[in-house]
Amino acid sequence: MSCTKGRTFLFYHVWIGNTTLIDYKYLMRLILILLSLSSLKGFARNFPDPYVLARSSGKLAMLGYGLGEDRLGGAKMGYIDTGIALRIIDSTKDQYLIKLSKNHTAYINKEDIVKDTATRVKPFYLTNSWSVKGDDIYDYVSLNVDDKLPYKSWMEIDPSKIMVEVYGVQSNTNWITQLRSAKEVKNVYFVQTEDDVVRVTIELKHQQHWGYSIYYHGKNLTIRIRRQPRLKIKDLKIAIDAGHGGSNTGATGITSKVLEKNYTIRFATELEKILKDKGTNVIMTRTVDTTINNIDRVLSLQKEMPNVLISIHLNSSGNDTVKGVSTYYKHIGFRPLTTHILHRMLQLQLNEFGNVGNFNFTPNAPTDFPSSLVEVAFLSNKDDEKRILDPRFHKVVARKIYRGIKDWLIAVKKGNEYSAS
Ligand SMILES: [Zn+2]
Repeated sequence: MSCTKGRTFLFYHVWIGNTTLIDYKYLMRLILILLSLSSLKGFARNFPDPYVLARSSGKLAMLGYGLGEDRLGGAKMGYIDTGIALRIIDSTKDQYLIKLSKNHTAYINKEDIVKDTATRVKPFYLTNSWSVKGDDIYDYVSLNVDDKLPYKSWMEIDPSKIMVEVYGVQSNTNWITQLRSAKEVKNVYFVQTEDDVVRVTIELKHQQHWGYSIYYHGKNLTIRIRRQPRLKIKDLKIAIDAGHGGSNTGATGITSKVLEKNYTIRFATELEKILKDKGTNVIMTRTVDTTINNIDRVLSLQKEMPNVLISIHLNSSGNDTVKGVSTYYKHIGFRPLTTHILHRMLQLQLNEFGNVGNFNFTPNAPTDFPSSLVEVAFLSNKDDEKRILDPRFHKVVARKIYRGIKDWLIAVKKGNEYSAS
């Protein structure tokens, strides 16, 4: 805007000059000088000024792709650490539109952001040296960046890779130190894919993704990578999440009017019994009828860092003829777990509602550990409801989920985790 105004102003003077005493050539030269000064000024101002700088905050800040909504909220780009520098460019009722880089934007909830008036936006940001190393538990890929800049990550399979894009940054990385203490990372490299986007590729040694966490340690963007555990169920730490609880009652039985929250816990407890019996270290997100929101479930799970998370829910539909079992995952690297569980569940003569990918459910969103949501059957369908009410069914379902996890581990061991046995 300021540029256009400046030019209008100059042209006005040309017209005046041309009709009065000023020499035309002199005027043209003056105009050119002023025009170039004006555009230079515009260029220098272009970068920092239109933005309000802010930082991600809150419990579990999440970047979203757009303003789309469904009952679980808009599609998630991913969670980000707190303190990430974000440039606000627009605002809706509940969300800010933020600029990640020249060509990339995202939405963030207003409650997940605080304005940062103390930091001056720099004209450019650089990546510096990186390191790849490991300790007793994890591998770490660490990228030094000039500020805590936003990022997005995803999994790729076959071969397995972790991909990370860092926004608003230019590479000045000429040094990637790699130590033998890294056990799971095979290769690390980057490409500057756009003027201000650096794409990092982390190739993994194993086919199966076991999870990763991304956070800033100072100004080091750190990707902490989980190694493959011993592939025995007794050696794993398995979290079981009984859906709903307390004031969050979930679905209601179509004839019995039973509440979902009181039945998810029954399936969860049966699975807990089987796993504990095998010597597995089991964590329950709840053991009693209490209200815990999904964000708090995720935060406590991220502290516990299980090897696997199983969330148990009961489905519901406005159409009472819809019935059957379904499994859900968000990240493609975790799909094999859901495939194996669904395969075993279908042995119970339940209708196949399907394996659902890219699922936008908060407990499926973390990349930290493989997870599967199991919607056992529909409380809104009479046939399914009858089975859900039967205590014997709780036991057989728990048994099938256990068998599904076991099948998955066997497949991972054989290296063919993408086909259900
Ligand atoms: Zn539910």
